[in-house]
Amino acid sequence: MNPNVHVTAHGKKVVTVIPGDGIGPEVVQSAQGIIDAVGAPIAWEECHAGAIIFKQGFPSGVPQETIESIRKTRVVLKGPLETPVGFGEKSANVTLRKLFETYANVRPAREVPGVKTPFSGRGIDLVVVRENVEDVYAGIEHMQTPGVAQCLKLISRKGCEKIVRFAFELARSESRTLVHCATKSNIMKLTEGMLKRTFEDVSREYPDIEAQHIIVDNCAHQLVKRPEQFDVIVTTNMNGDILSDLTSGLIGGLGFAPSANIGTDVAIFEAVHGSAPKYTGKNVINPTAVILSAVMMLRHLGEFEGAAAIENAMLVTLESGVLTRDVVGDTGAASTTTFTEAVIGNLGKTSSTWRVRDYKPLRLPRVSTAPDFVKVAQRRVAGVDIFLESSLGAEELGTAMEGIAGGSPVTLKMISNRGTKVYRPTGAMTDVVDQWRARFMLSDSSDNLSDAAIADLIERIGANHRWAHVEKLQEFDGEPGFTRAQGED
Ligand code: NAP
Repeated sequence: MNPNVHVTAHGKKVVTVIPGDGIGPEVVQSAQGIIDAVGAPIAWEECHAGAIIFKQGFPSGVPQETIESIRKTRVVLKGPLETPVGFGEKSANVTLRKLFETYANVRPAREVPGVKTPFSGRGIDLVVVRENVEDVYAGIEHMQTPGVAQCLKLISRKGCEKIVRFAFELARSESRTLVHCATKSNIMKLTEGMLKRTFEDVSREYPDIEAQHIIVDNCAHQLVKRPEQFDVIVTTNMNGDILSDLTSGLIGGLGFAPSANIGTDVAIFEAVHGSAPKYTGKNVINPTAVILSAVMMLRHLGEFEGAAAIENAMLVTLESGVLTRDVVGDTGAASTTTFTEAVIGNLGKTSSTWRVRDYKPLRLPRVSTAPDFVKVAQRRVAGVDIFLESSLGAEELGTAMEGIAGGSPVTLKMISNRGTKVYRPTGAMTDVVDQWRARFMLSDSSDNLSDAAIADLIERIGANHRWAHVEKLQEFDGEPGFTRAQGED
C-alpha cells in the first residue's frame, strides 16, 4: 500500500470518489455499495470533475477542490467523464492522469463465466500496461500551415524505464511469466524504438520473466488469432489505447473492462468505458467494469481479502446467470441495481469453477527523478531542419534554398514533403502540400553548427519565405539524433 494514503481517526482509508458524467453515478454507486457491504475500511470523499465543471466555466474540467482532495487521499475511484470533441476544452480524464503523473494505465482482460464470446473457453487472462502520459497524448499540436497540422510524439527514456519496470513488477506481483513489448519501432525508430531498446535493457534484470518484442500491428493480429498466448503487454500510449479496447472486446465488451492509472504518488481507478450518455438514468448499464476497477483499488490499498471476496461474488453472480442488457439483450436482463444486489448477496461465496488469481503487493519501480535522466559525454549540432510554408514547386523551392545557403557554413542536403524526399528529385510521384522541410547540413563534418549561423540562415529564409518551425539536427555520443527522409541517402 502507498504509505501516503490518508487514514481517518477510525482507521478507514480515505478515497476520493468522482461519480462522473452520464452513467457514471449509477455504476460508481454500485461499486461503493459493494465495497461498503464487504466491510472494507474505506471512507469516501466525494468530488467532481468533467461536464458539470466545464459548464461552470472551468476549461480544465477539474476544479481546485478536487485536486486538493486527490493530493490528500492519493487514491481515486472515478466514473467516466465526458470529453468535449474538437476545439475547446481538453479531456478532464487526460488532465487528471497528467496532473498526478499516473504514468501506468493497467487494463486487465480476463474471460468471465456466463458471458459467451467467440473466444469463450480459450482462457484469456492478460493485462495491457499502457504508458499513460507521453506519446501523442501529450497533446502538443500546431497548425504549421492553414492546411497542415502537426502533433508531437514525445517519448522519454525515463518514461520508458518507468513503464517497462512497472510491467515487469506487475507480472511478478500477479505471478505472470511472460511480458510482450508491442511497438512500431520498425517505422518510428527513435520514439517507438526507445521503448523497445529500454525493454531489451531492463528485461535483463528480470530473468524469471520471459521477455518478447512484437510489432504492434502483428500484436493486434495475434490477439484476435490466439489471445491466450499473451500474459502482460507493455506498450506506448496510443498503441495501448487501441489494443486495450480490442482486448476488452475479446472478453465481452467494455462492460467488463476495468482499469487503473497508477503513478508513484497517486492511483486513479476507473472503467475503460465512457459515459454512454444514451443510457443515463435508465438503470440498464453493466457495472462490472467499475466494480472490477474498485477491486483493483482495494488491492492497491492492501485490502486483499475484501478484493478477493468481491471478485468471487462477481464470478458467482455471472455464473448464476444474472446478466445485464449488454450481454443478454433486453429480455431477461438484470438491471444495474439487481446485478449489484446479487453481487452483495453472493459475498462470502466462492466460484467452484473460476479461480481468483493470487496477488502480492505491487512494488512500484523507483526511477531517478532527475530531469536530465540521460547524460552524454559528447554532443554536436550537425545541421538544421527548417519547416516552411510555400506554394512553390519542389524545384523552384530547392533552387531558392540552395541560393540562400550559398556562402554559409551549411549546404542544402534535401527537401522533403510529408517525410518523402522531393528535392533533388528522386523520380518519386509525391502529391505535395504547402509544408516543406529543408534540411541543411554542415559542409565540414567535424564542425559544430552555431546558434548564430542558424539564426542567420532563418533570417535569410524569412526575408522571402514563411518558415514555421526549426529543429536542430543533433548527434549524441556520435549517434545521429534524427532520422532520414524517405528516399534520402
Ligand atoms: P462509451 O461511453 O464507452 O459507450 C460506447 C458504447 O459502449 C455504449 O453505447 C454501449 O454500447 C457500450 N458500453 C459502454 N459502457 C458500457 C457498460 N458499462 N455496460 C454496457 N455497455 C456499455 O463511449 P463513447 O460513446 O464513445 O463516449 C461517450 C463519452 O464518454 C464521450 O464524451 C467520451 O469522451 C467519454 N469517455 C470517457 C472515458 C473516461 O472517462 N475514462 C473513456 C471513454 C470515453 P451499445 O450502444 O452497443 O449498447
